[in-house]
Amino acid sequence: MNVHEFQGKSLLKAYNVDIQEGFVAENPDQAVMAAEQLKEKYGSDFFVVKAQIHAGGRGKGGGVKLAKSIGDVRRLAGEIIGMQLVTPQTSAEGKKVNRVLIAQDVYYKGESDPKEFYISILLNRNSGRNIVMYSPEGGMSIEEVAEKTPDRIFTEEIDPAIGLQDFQKRNIAFNLGLSGTAFKNMQKFLEGICETYLSSDAQLLEINPVLKTSDNRILAVDCKLVIDDNALYRQPEIAAMRDISEEDPVEVEAVKYNLNFVKLDGNVGCMVNGAGLAMATMDIIKLSGGSPANFLDVGGGANAKTVEAGFRIILKDPAVKAILINIFGGIVRCDRVANGVVEAYKSIGEIKVPVIVRLQGTNAEEAKKIIDNSGLAVYSAISFSDAAALVTRVLN
Ligand code: GDP
Ligand code: MN
Repeated sequence: MNVHEFQGKSLLKAYNVDIQEGFVAENPDQAVMAAEQLKEKYGSDFFVVKAQIHAGGRGKGGGVKLAKSIGDVRRLAGEIIGMQLVTPQTSAEGKKVNRVLIAQDVYYKGESDPKEFYISILLNRNSGRNIVMYSPEGGMSIEEVAEKTPDRIFTEEIDPAIGLQDFQKRNIAFNLGLSGTAFKNMQKFLEGICETYLSSDAQLLEINPVLKTSDNRILAVDCKLVIDDNALYRQPEIAAMRDISEEDPVEVEAVKYNLNFVKLDGNVGCMVNGAGLAMATMDIIKLSGGSPANFLDVGGGANAKTVEAGFRIILKDPAVKAILINIFGGIVRCDRVANGVVEAYKSIGEIKVPVIVRLQGTNAEEAKKIIDNSGLAVYSAISFSDAAALVTRVLN
């Protein structure tokens, strides 16, 4: 689960990480109030208006703007709230901005040489350990740094038993070119972000840029935080930060029924039990001359209800020209799934695209009979190759 920058920063602050302070606003009046509060609390004269969407690269897309007066804050908030923000990380339509973060300007007026770093913590799946990944080349796209100057990206691996060690923290600060007070502040910063990452069950905490100000403070200016969905049950406060409006509505619906659904841009919807079989099914759709409209794993215990939910979700996509259901009956018997398909089909009423059902495994023959005798416009198959041939036939 993704959270917004302002939410991630509030967690960082709770773990004593210095942040670029700010307040969130949903309209220009709230934005002005936020700026006045920043002026009072922190003495800010300049502010940054930052679009809150679940995508990075907002600066490049015009979603992060410097305001040199409270009047500017009002105008920029008015422009940014409600805009369709397109960034290198969004689709071509972009994302609607519902809120902005009004933050203090931490690149102090006239600061000639702000030092921006990149620091993230994430799981290294090869070693099964968390790592701190960092670079003195912050502020810009880290993908670009990785491509052009990979030697400017460093890592430290965190031992799960003893955590990030002092010598590693010194190593990081040294590689970032810090000394004196900034060096010390970086040690504290690293402790705080490690604690935030672990305590919030994150799978990614990325801060780009981390800023060293001219008075040697180390600040989190941005924050991308991704929480492990499997841990949300024990993170009620973070789970409450979920912003459904940022998520694909069809995927939200799928989660309700425990379906693993990923939208793709092809023309054949598919419903499969098991992720491996789902991948193979997508391959066979490609080989049959179609392309998969989605990935959908209904899980081991597919029943009439899950099949119906799957149908409804697939049918929301107008690009779908055919549906292929591919179920291997092991624990779940094929005849039960076939009955489920027939029931679901009838209860939905009008399915206008051809449906192909391939059932293999326990009671596959009986299942085929149930489909064939149902009187519905459903094609049945037992072998994978028959199913593929049917896909080719209905698409042509
Ligand atoms: P992103 O583009 O989505 O990664 O959003 P960021 O929060 O990283 O902001 C983008 C850029 O805006 C940063 O890299 C900074 O260069 C700039 N920026 C952020 N905060 C400030 C600020 O307080 N003052 C000024 N002048 N620029 C800022
Ligand atoms: Mn950033």
